[in-house]
Amino acid sequence: MSNLSSISIQYIKGVGPARKRLFGRLGVESVEDLLYFFPRRYEDRSRMTPLSEVRIGEYQTVSGKIMARHQRRSWYTKKHVTEIVLSDKRGRIFCVWFNQPYLENYLRPNTHLVIYGKADVYKNRLQMVAPEYEIIGDEDDEERQLNVGRIVPIYPLTRGMTQRYLRKIVRNALDRHCDDIHDLLPVPLRNKHRLANIKRSLEAVHFPPDVQTQEEAYRRISFEEFFFFQVSAFRRRLSIVAKPGHAHGIGLDLISRFTKAFPFELTAAQKRVINEIAGDMQQSAPMLRLLHGDVGSGKTLVALFGCVAAFENKKQAAVMAPTEILAQQHYHKIHEFVDSGPFKDLRLACLVSSMRKKEKDLILEQLRSGRIDLLIGTHALLSEQVDFADLSFVVIDEQHKFGVRQRALLSTKGSNPDVLVMTATPIPRTLSLTLYGDLDVSVLDEMPPGKGNIMTRLFSRERTDEAYDIMRQKVKAGQQVYIVYPLVEESDKTDLKAAEEMYRHFRKKEFKDLRIGLVHGQMARQEADEIMQAFKNKQIDILVATTVLEVGVDVPNAGVMVIEHAERFGLSQLHQLRGRVGRGSADGLCLLVADPVTEEAEARLKAICSSTDGFKIAEQDLLIRGPGHYFGRHQHGLNELKFSNPVTQIDILELARGEAKELIHQDPGLREPAHRVIEEVIRTRYPDYLKMVEAG
Ligand code: ADP
Ligand code: MG
Repeated sequence: MSNLSSISIQYIKGVGPARKRLFGRLGVESVEDLLYFFPRRYEDRSRMTPLSEVRIGEYQTVSGKIMARHQRRSWYTKKHVTEIVLSDKRGRIFCVWFNQPYLENYLRPNTHLVIYGKADVYKNRLQMVAPEYEIIGDEDDEERQLNVGRIVPIYPLTRGMTQRYLRKIVRNALDRHCDDIHDLLPVPLRNKHRLANIKRSLEAVHFPPDVQTQEEAYRRISFEEFFFFQVSAFRRRLSIVAKPGHAHGIGLDLISRFTKAFPFELTAAQKRVINEIAGDMQQSAPMLRLLHGDVGSGKTLVALFGCVAAFENKKQAAVMAPTEILAQQHYHKIHEFVDSGPFKDLRLACLVSSMRKKEKDLILEQLRSGRIDLLIGTHALLSEQVDFADLSFVVIDEQHKFGVRQRALLSTKGSNPDVLVMTATPIPRTLSLTLYGDLDVSVLDEMPPGKGNIMTRLFSRERTDEAYDIMRQKVKAGQQVYIVYPLVEESDKTDLKAAEEMYRHFRKKEFKDLRIGLVHGQMARQEADEIMQAFKNKQIDILVATTVLEVGVDVPNAGVMVIEHAERFGLSQLHQLRGRVGRGSADGLCLLVADPVTEEAEARLKAICSSTDGFKIAEQDLLIRGPGHYFGRHQHGLNELKFSNPVTQIDILELARGEAKELIHQDPGLREPAHRVIEEVIRTRYPDYLKMVEAG
């Protein structure tokens, strides 16, 4: 399909420059992107529920004609309310939307509407709050065939784009380019696992004739993605571990001297992982290990063990972190430990780009002559001038912040050093073992004792005032509070406006007796820093913020976080945000204000309220996600997978993994003529992986 990836979607009928920009927001640039832009769910509109048979408390699709429309202000919250009555021959239902005055332009009486949402009963009448809606009726026959009377795809949208439009464009693309879609999976594989051909599968994922065909098609497409990803991973591993590295001598006494050097007892998980690392480091084959652990699980200490082991073997170690703040934080923590413990002779240094040249040169010189045992730093470590005397152990913190190539570059500074990559975006353990064919995996699945707990409570929008009351009490008790607003898309000014408006409302009315601050992503860096500093210094009681908070904020006195429109956040995002409170030893409180209008959103909120374990949440996250969710855009740890879901599809993942392993076993270099096409696919899809193979 390489040619389809180079054809801009603007060449598809119906896409002009303006729409092209909208597609860009959805991550769709080429025809290939569009064909692989999958529905997030489907609606069966072949058998619509009559309004007289609507099931209370369930999500469902119904349709009818708009009989009446009404706009008003709610007397309680002063919100703008749009209300319509939808009716078919035998029943009717009320629909309500808040704060969307523009709906007036679309929802005109006599318009035919399909809605999707959860039905409930309010004041004795059947209603749906903020259902998804779609107007049908004024289109020609051809369009009708895409939008009603069948299983209909529902795509992820961006403001300014409609389901109907997207369906039409996808239809056009499939019709126009059907002959350019080439199957990349080897025929024997397809036959063996009875996988349909790609053309039919893409057709069926977008416009399925029935549920079974859709499921088979999705299975086939996922098999392909898993397969190529795994082939590249196995190939990479082979190219690394086949080389001779350094066999470190690690006695039992070293492990016990190390573990005794801390003022606290190591967790069982830390001890286990230290043993795993020690085992690897003693082998001559280079270690390639991924360490998973939630924020605060104590990864730094585990990584430090490897550094100490290298030092005891008269070798050097390096720790690379994604930001200066993190690098410096590591440096200070490790410095403190080294100074006071049994490894006093270990000489360490910190290298970041903002350093003065003179200082830098001195460090580089000492590094070259072996007078530094452990170098901690940022990307600066990758610079050409950085030259180790004998580097044998490498740590990469927050590995997902670095590209594969950058990770590899650090390793080339030694001769096949042992490598430990660390990440705090947890993915389920069973999954990481299966998915990362190129890495061994260790997990810190236990938190050190003595941290506060976080309690999470959910409020509907109607009950916002209760959440605010709790906030007020906490502030009176001396705590500080975050209020977070979502920014759904970076370009979305309306969302920012909502945060700004609320900020003013809080200052002038709701919390006019308290000190309020506002911080958001479009602010100048310096201004944002100043406000954060003021918050840290307790000059601000309530900080209104957009999601900029995610990045490394640490204010121990902030005990409460209110997240507004929580239904709009992804699960891992909610988990990370919530991690900002309860940093000290006191318990944290997280108040979610949300009106979920989809089953998925409801499930996400339930998951976040019922667990604080990052691994469990990651698993729930993957279970809840529909096929249309691009992992990359949701900052998931699984950036490489675009449309497959490794949790719900673990059986397919395992099949594909088995085949990938077998293939690399048979033909490690993918040199056989029949395998050339596979090599070619990997080269284009995972270019960084291949570059590594060639560099080694
Ligand atoms: P992360 O996994 O997020 O990198 P850190 O390594 O920074 O976590 O550890 C978080 C904090 O917990 C540090 O202050 C560290 O000293 C402390 N810590 C680590 N292990 C333990 C333990 N076993 N018992 C108590 N505190 C610990
Ligand atoms: Mg860390």
